[in-house]
Amino acid sequence: MSGRTTDVAIIGGGLVGAWTAFFLSKRGLRVTLLEKSVVGAQSSGVNFGNLRLQGRFSGQYPLSLRAQALWEDFATLIGEDCEFEQSGHLYLAYDAEEQVKLEAYAQLSESYGLAIERFGPADLKRRWPWLGERAIAATFSARDATANPRLATPAVARAAARHGAVIRENTQVSAVDRQGCGFALRLAGGESLSCGALVNSAGAWALEIAERFGETAPLFPAGPPQFVTEPFPYLIRPSVQAIDGSVIFRQIPRGNVILAGYPRTAADPVSNRAPVPPGKTLAAMRALARVVPMLAHCHVIRVWSGIEAYLPDMIPVIGPSETAAGLFHAFGFCGHGFQIGPGVGLCLSEMIADGSTQTPLEPFSIARFRSAAVVSDKFRKEFD
Ligand SMILES: Cc1cc2nc3c(=O)[nH]c(=O)nc-3n(C[C@H](O)[C@H](O)[C@H](O)COP(=O)(O)OP(=O)(O)OC[C@H]3O[C@@H](n4cnc5c(N)ncnc54)[C@H](O)[C@@H]3O)c2cc1C
Repeated sequence: MSGRTTDVAIIGGGLVGAWTAFFLSKRGLRVTLLEKSVVGAQSSGVNFGNLRLQGRFSGQYPLSLRAQALWEDFATLIGEDCEFEQSGHLYLAYDAEEQVKLEAYAQLSESYGLAIERFGPADLKRRWPWLGERAIAATFSARDATANPRLATPAVARAAARHGAVIRENTQVSAVDRQGCGFALRLAGGESLSCGALVNSAGAWALEIAERFGETAPLFPAGPPQFVTEPFPYLIRPSVQAIDGSVIFRQIPRGNVILAGYPRTAADPVSNRAPVPPGKTLAAMRALARVVPMLAHCHVIRVWSGIEAYLPDMIPVIGPSETAAGLFHAFGFCGHGFQIGPGVGLCLSEMIADGSTQTPLEPFSIARFRSAAVVSDKFRKEFD
């Protein structure tokens, strides 16, 4: 394909790149999605699968709600199932300070129209008898959901291909340069591709592309360790999260419990490694046992993590480049990108095809890193 042209080139075949390709190709633009490995091989394919609406950064709610509507419509839009399940999300507080945080999350969620149920200890035990005794309060959002990350991204890319998008796996973009009003890409193997607009959705590798155009962000590659247990009779339907962040878990109908333990662990995008130190498995299982004592002695059958880009304010970069017209960034999803991915793809497609999007994206501008970055408490707690 030496010397080919396309309207839009997308670097990175994760969920964000795939949804962007889907919406743009559906609108009739010529799109080429370039993935150095296979579609959904990185964060997008190895994540926990949580589509949580409670407890998000307030500026992210419009985007997040737009994304959830797309998840809810996944089977119709994409034509395949991704095990989307609206099983709800339960947040647990174990002391008065955590209860205050829980209430703040609940009120913020309600201000964006979410229905939040509140529980005291007695109601909690009645509704979810497998919970331990120690939680003093909980909130439940029935609209929160989960999906299978292994299924979702490849399905979206296949749907994009049906609309005419060219999906190129095992195709690394090795260089990007300005070419007139557009861009010239060099692909591994020496091929070249010209495009009018360029999407940088390269995940933890996105900085290299931004820096070619004089932009930067203090990106930190890491991942939350994930664990899966042997199967048990299916009992636990919602996703459950201790609000102190020590553990989040869900049971899948096949019976296995999937859990994630915090803090996250640094990962290496150069060697492509996301290690899980053995101590993290023990810590996560102890945190799980505190929430569901009957799981105290269950066996973990597999551990893994992934390589995700974090930023110190725990807010992603989404939107146009400040230095190169026609270039759009979408990276640094700080552990939230699976839920908002469809919304990000939709907004990018609107910005590229229409010149603007109805969803407010100002908080996500890369320009915020021209001055010293704000460091969120969450980031400090996990990575300092
Ligand atoms: C273990 C784990 C658990 C998580 N759990 C959740 C969760 O429960 N809920 C949630 O909302 N989020 C979760 N996340 C975060 C979520 O997975 C990510 O935010 C999201 O998948 C990011 O999608 P992406 O498309 O931006 O990036 P990625 O999926 O990383 O895709 C980027 C792609 O770009 C490709 N690429 C990079 N450079 C190049 C190049 N030069 N040329 C060609 N291709 C290139 C890479 O190979 C990669 O496939 C989790 C993340 C991890 C790691």
